Amino acid sequence: MIKKHQPVIDFIRSAYQTTAFIPLHEPKFVGNEKAYVIDCIDSTFVSSVGQYVDRFEQEMAKYTGAKYAVATVNGTAALHIALKLAGVGPDDEVITQSLSFVATCNAISYCGAKPVFVDVDRDTLGLSPVSLEAFLSANATRTTGGCVNKNTGRKISAIVPMHTFGHPCRIDAIADICEEFGIALVEDAAESLGSYYQGRHTGTFGKLAAFSFNGNKTITTGGGGMIVTDDEALAKRAKHITTTAKVPHPYEFIHDEIGYNYRLPNINAALGCAQLEVLPRLLESKRAISAEYAKFFAGTRFNFVQEPINSHSNYWLNALVLEDKQERDAFLKDLNEAGVMSRPIWRLMNELPMFSGCQSTDLSNAKWLEERVVNIPSSARIQ
Ligand SMILES: *Cc1c(COP(=O)(O)O)cnc(C)c1O
Repeated sequence: MIKKHQPVIDFIRSAYQTTAFIPLHEPKFVGNEKAYVIDCIDSTFVSSVGQYVDRFEQEMAKYTGAKYAVATVNGTAALHIALKLAGVGPDDEVITQSLSFVATCNAISYCGAKPVFVDVDRDTLGLSPVSLEAFLSANATRTTGGCVNKNTGRKISAIVPMHTFGHPCRIDAIADICEEFGIALVEDAAESLGSYYQGRHTGTFGKLAAFSFNGNKTITTGGGGMIVTDDEALAKRAKHITTTAKVPHPYEFIHDEIGYNYRLPNINAALGCAQLEVLPRLLESKRAISAEYAKFFAGTRFNFVQEPINSHSNYWLNALVLEDKQERDAFLKDLNEAGVMSRPIWRLMNELPMFSGCQSTDLSNAKWLEERVVNIPSSARIQ
């Protein structure tokens, strides 16, 4: 029986020129990855000390335009420390979007804080400044000790927007609201390396931001993350507490607070340095595929998600908004059965058991998108 979505399957197969299984996003090691990893092995510096860590940090700072960058073992660890350094503590509240990968809420929870969910915008898929402003106007009050939720008496210590699939959210409006209410802005930029809002790199609008170099991200270090900030003191604190809070000394073990072993090993940073060199080619190739998708899906009943206005997106994962949940389920079944990987967007965080009791606003856009959005193959086509 011919599948209802055969034309889509055929198109994706022609775009990737293969009859084999097509993954959603595969890493591409087409530069100096092998050479740098071998260099680590030859030098024996494969672990927590080595020149590639410093170099990767410097190059990430340069690339994003942030003043400082601190490498971590993964993106979740980067978010955890970014939140902690933004002042998030036990029993605080942190506002974020319910439509996100679970790591955002996990990191909030590691600080002992509670996520509060506001809605997203349908066009950006990211945190809605209108929903945020509505929640704060109704519930928040500025005190000398910071912004407080009048209903719970808890401090609202941070706001964490996420740039979904690499598409920048309305980060300038969100930054203005953070300013107005005296709340720290921490961007979850895990998905948006290479994405810009009004010419400025995502992750540079708030106090701190986190990037991820997991295996499925735009560039990968196997596993890895990065905290970026313009604040020198915060950058120094980030480096200190992610490296067991060890006080520099030629041979003695002295640690001055409870720290974390969140260091990125040198061998992973070596991969990162090579991947950053290839990043412009990866982005160019990813945007070329997205342009082909946009052209193919124009005039069909499939709504291809394009970069929002004023933005330049990395198109990390290409996405479609389908007509309804039934259509989504049929689409997922057809493509996956045909060996063309497709996945639904995440379940809403407020529907997961551990976050189901959290406060939230009306989440109708998030719910609407959750039932309709799928990702389709997005790997760069370079060998
Ligand atoms: C990938 C990702 C992270 C961090 O993930 P790690 O796997 O820990 O590197 C955080 N938030 C979002 C939205 C992500 O997509």
